Amino acid sequence: MKNFPTFDTYPVREGKLTEMDYSLTETKFSLWSPVADEVKVLLYESGHDGLAYKTIPMNKGIDGTWNVVVQEELHGKFYTFNVKVGGRWLGDTPGIMAKAVGVNGQRAMVLDLNTTDPEGWENDVRPPLASFADIVVYEMHHRDFSIAPVSGITNRGKFLALTEEGTKSLFGEKTGLDHLIELGVNHVQILPSFDYASVDESKLVNNQYNWGYDPMNYNVPEGSYSTDPYNPAVRIKEFKLMVQALHKVGIRVVLDVVYNHTFDIVNSNFEKTVPGYFYRLDSKGKYADASGCGNEIASERAMMRKYMVESVLYWVNEYHIDGFRFDLMGIHDIETMNEIRKELNKIDPSIFVYGEGWAANTPQMPEELLAMKANAYKMPGIAVFSDEMRDGLRGPFNNDKQGAFLNGFPGHEMSIMYGLVGCISHPQIKNNSVNYSNEAWAVQPTQMISYVSCHDDMCLADRIKSTFPKASIEERMALHKLAETFVFTSQGIPLIFTGDEIMRDKKGVHNSYNSSDEINAVNWGQKSTYREVFDYIKDLITMRKFHPAFRMGDAKKVCNHMEFLPVKGSNLIAFILKDYANGDSWNNIVVAFNSRKKTAKISVPKGCYTIVCKDGKINLKGMGRVNGVKVAVPAQSALIMHE
Ligand code: CA
Repeated sequence: MKNFPTFDTYPVREGKLTEMDYSLTETKFSLWSPVADEVKVLLYESGHDGLAYKTIPMNKGIDGTWNVVVQEELHGKFYTFNVKVGGRWLGDTPGIMAKAVGVNGQRAMVLDLNTTDPEGWENDVRPPLASFADIVVYEMHHRDFSIAPVSGITNRGKFLALTEEGTKSLFGEKTGLDHLIELGVNHVQILPSFDYASVDESKLVNNQYNWGYDPMNYNVPEGSYSTDPYNPAVRIKEFKLMVQALHKVGIRVVLDVVYNHTFDIVNSNFEKTVPGYFYRLDSKGKYADASGCGNEIASERAMMRKYMVESVLYWVNEYHIDGFRFDLMGIHDIETMNEIRKELNKIDPSIFVYGEGWAANTPQMPEELLAMKANAYKMPGIAVFSDEMRDGLRGPFNNDKQGAFLNGFPGHEMSIMYGLVGCISHPQIKNNSVNYSNEAWAVQPTQMISYVSCHDDMCLADRIKSTFPKASIEERMALHKLAETFVFTSQGIPLIFTGDEIMRDKKGVHNSYNSSDEINAVNWGQKSTYREVFDYIKDLITMRKFHPAFRMGDAKKVCNHMEFLPVKGSNLIAFILKDYANGDSWNNIVVAFNSRKKTAKISVPKGCYTIVCKDGKINLKGMGRVNGVKVAVPAQSALIMHE
């Protein structure tokens, strides 16, 4: 491999990285490639078929940028670039900033994006959000969510599925968009929805499935989720229709972004543009692989940082995206993440940014410079997934059969309490007893993503089944509800994985990234079967919404008002949210969790409490009263009451 040791000396392109600028009379092409000997742009009639009808050499300009102006009306034509480096042509690429592509993302299209705006797009506004603390995230995959015929949805597996109102399951339960409204979430996090490589968009009848963590064109929606992957305008318009429909019902849209690696190196648009520059190399000069997917993006390089910032802003400005979930954020450097936060703040500080504060393998950068969980305190306004409470509840990622608190195993209480306070420094948390973190990594509780399952491994129902092979369905339902009660009473930001609210299972498959629909599709029929679980989780969300004590959003307030109550023995946790006014009609809220197989007693401050959650049932108007100071918490369930 030819070595390019001096990447830092490459000139940085000023202004935007626009590679195609269309007008009626001319189209300007430009590509950043400071190492190129020659660059040409090729024009085509089709996005996938036939040879170029014209090949035009580009001229070397300033900052390593190559330019050419074609004085013709090119709207609807397709184009690629080809770059010659070291005497070798690297092959066709739509560029790194393509914004419209044909089937399978091989060629870009000259397109006036204004023509893709749906009716009323200019009036589309971001639903209001007073504080990050108010956020409830629903993580979903387009195909999982709507592909089952029982969903009653017409555009199954497509962006448009989220625009359909009034859809119902065969059993009359609300599905799709109406289901989200009924559940009460206010953010959906859509799994990779930019153009990814692993699904052949020309063979969609084959029911291919992939999560989509294999990026190709970062600034274009994925074709397989559109109704016509051949027409580049269709996926763009349909994506916007989806955002518009969600906004209309008060739901914000979070994009799962995967800048940490590309599908492959040889065929990547980065590599075909400026070889080596966009990737980190290891000490032997080979491509490093912190993603576990074959490569590792060099976010710290000036042009890669600029690329990430510009790409994020593009999704906000063109598609009205409201938040970003950074896949393997720990591969990126802190400076880049803070730069993204800073630029987003200029547009709207309520745009939410969070990510996985880890990597698959050790990245080629000093740990203290990386956007790892332990460094979250260096990234104000950016949240991180917490594995402390998650694993304290259900057991570790790498062993599906190993249980934890939910299974009645002792010793996980402090890890869970750490998550309940939002991973901040709290006087009652003994950090040396927390599973993975010896100190608080969050400055504010809104920096913590609180969850018990996500797409990544076994979903909650499977995990409970796997760790409780002999449990009855009633027992599994009880534990399911108990687990989600932690998530929604944590001071962090709650996240729920599609279908966990209806006991969705993936038939025990841990890594279902390319499993069939049979494994991944949400069976909406289960909403009837497990209506009681759905209602319980819906009520938890309602409770959180109407009672700000559950989402104080401020570390000082949490320290002042959230106090763990003394309990005897293990598998019992109780806290009180005391004297928290701030508009909350409930005072002195007591929350207790018991994962033992028998009733436990806790001591609470003297008072008369109204019970709102007990033994797997919730009634926010109250279901009886109890006088302190000794209160019973039924087996394998949560108790919530207030004065
Ligand atoms: Ca694709």
